[in-house]
Amino acid sequence: MQAQLKQYFGFDSFRKGQEETVKSVLSGRSAAAIFPTGSGKSLCYQLPALMLPNLTLVVSPLVALMKDQLSFLQSKHIPAAALDSSLTFNETKAIWADLRAGKTKVLMVAVERFKNERFRQSIKNIPISLLVIDEAHCISEWGHNFRPDYLKLPSYQAEFGITQTLLLTATATPVVIEDMANKFNIAPQDIQTTGFYRPNLHLNIKAMPEAQKYDFIVDYLSKSARFKPIANQYREADANNSAANNVMGAQGSHACPTIIYVTLQKNAEDLATKLKHDGFNAVAYHAGLASDLRSTIQNAFMDDKVDIIVATIAFGMGVDKSNIRNVIHFDLPKSIENYSQEIGRAGRDGNVSDCLTIVNKERLNVLENFVYGDTPELQDIHFVLQDIQSQSNTEPLNEWHVQLYRLSQECNIRQLSLKTLMVYLEMRGIIKPKYSYFAEYRFKLLVAMDVIEAAFNGERLEFVRAIFDASDKKKIWWQLNFDNIFEQYNHNGNGAQRGRVITALEYFSDKGWVELEAKQMTEVFDVSDNTFFVAKVAKELTDTFVQKQDVEVARIHNMLKLFERPQCLSNQLSLYFGDKAAPSHCGHCSVCHGNIVHYPQCSTPDLPSSETLKELSKPFLTSYQADQFKLPSAELLTKFLCGISVPLFTRLKARKIDNFARLENNSFSEILSISRLILSD
Ligand SMILES: [Zn+2]
Repeated sequence: MQAQLKQYFGFDSFRKGQEETVKSVLSGRSAAAIFPTGSGKSLCYQLPALMLPNLTLVVSPLVALMKDQLSFLQSKHIPAAALDSSLTFNETKAIWADLRAGKTKVLMVAVERFKNERFRQSIKNIPISLLVIDEAHCISEWGHNFRPDYLKLPSYQAEFGITQTLLLTATATPVVIEDMANKFNIAPQDIQTTGFYRPNLHLNIKAMPEAQKYDFIVDYLSKSARFKPIANQYREADANNSAANNVMGAQGSHACPTIIYVTLQKNAEDLATKLKHDGFNAVAYHAGLASDLRSTIQNAFMDDKVDIIVATIAFGMGVDKSNIRNVIHFDLPKSIENYSQEIGRAGRDGNVSDCLTIVNKERLNVLENFVYGDTPELQDIHFVLQDIQSQSNTEPLNEWHVQLYRLSQECNIRQLSLKTLMVYLEMRGIIKPKYSYFAEYRFKLLVAMDVIEAAFNGERLEFVRAIFDASDKKKIWWQLNFDNIFEQYNHNGNGAQRGRVITALEYFSDKGWVELEAKQMTEVFDVSDNTFFVAKVAKELTDTFVQKQDVEVARIHNMLKLFERPQCLSNQLSLYFGDKAAPSHCGHCSVCHGNIVHYPQCSTPDLPSSETLKELSKPFLTSYQADQFKLPSAELLTKFLCGISVPLFTRLKARKIDNFARLENNSFSEILSISRLILSD
């Protein structure tokens, strides 16, 4: 172990917790490593991977998280690969060839890949020594970052015959750790927690009314000694990189990387614009931006070309930047776990870094309303269950075909919640994944058609011609029409198989003859027993979702309580994550400096009378009834009034209807009670 550590990684000794974890794994046991960010979790699998006989399979929630680890492994000459959708056909083929030949030591995949039946079939034939689960807290439904796909990992482990698992995470409370350990049969002595306390993070919680926040931030950023005027020489050197400058409008930088977190996408834009106007090198980042723009912004930040990223929580996962000096929460974080994870991005290089959080309760309802938007209604779950029953009763029997986007629109459940619902259905044994396919293929010719045809003869030429003939030609893109091909092509009684058509198109694309696009991913589930009682199951699942919702709302309030307690913040956080070894007075948090949070008085918005609510509801009721010929549920009306988006609102153009989000500062549950009253009248 020591020799390998030195030879491959250049270290003379292990860091805290690493040796114990590596030993558990090399003794053939499953293990878990719960280390703070930046304290060497990855080494716990990288070293054993070199010494274990077979493949180490690493699962991450995001492709971005794998990239850094992959380049690190490759720089250490450890044979590693990552399978993701950005690879070309030949690259993928080469990776599989290496895997089958036993040359690869580490393979990384995003968790979604397990849904791909071709992947599952292929990986089953590769002997695997160890399954590594990165960001393992995502498996716990009671954690803060639950990923439905993670819940199926224990069953995949069994399916692939992997005997050992290693779980890695930075943020897990004792309850979540226990949950994770149970799901993978990890013994208490094989769980390493190295403590949560970060001595270089200066935590500062500052209470003030909403209206004062902006001026305070400007003052704070200006006074921060690290924000000095931009040096001229740096500006010149930087001007060479005109591409990044154009996108960012960057003026150069002085390496004081700062992340400012806000709740809403529009707040990110507004705040970044104001800061830019006031002379700061700030850029907004959120999930609403195009993905290539997002990566340009992220790269500019990594390269110190942008000082300040104003972001929603979409920013951070996969950002491995060691010198972030400031993490500022301009709006309230979502939970203690989110807060910890977000401040954990500061000071990974070990240097002193500031974490400022501005708090008040004025926008509390907005934060809570986010949670309500994720809870599907009983009738919507009912719809999904009925869809399963009716589809599985028609040809092809016992099958349920789902296009997530389309179903989400039809049942009016947000995609993430719908995925969660589908996992619950799987866990109950109602549905079982079979395979997935793309419903739509389209292609663009990159060479003349006769160039392609010239490459074939005989029956193959006929087949190629049939594909072209049967496609619907648009200006640029040709839409493949499977039904046409099946109808038209018949060679000596042999029809065109779907698989053969796709293989041919993939071959054309491989040759550079066409650009191929596959769309409408369709998942197929097996529904062998569809005799379940829709009403009963729908009710039970609704209860589960409501329970989850209540847990999420309670998280916000637990966080607010933690912030105002007159007890060292570093110490409270450490205890929350089960670290009893942290100092009771860190000496570098706002509480230790004698500044206790007192939430400023804020006026709660008036609760409308049922008469007022009736008036406010009219425009929505009119639009909804014109579309659906019935009254909306009280939940849906409340979502409209509180400005909580659901898929149906996109179709109804709800944002344009009068009074959308009119009551966004009110409490969802209070408005819901009044909505129930007026709708039952
Ligand atoms: Zn303290």
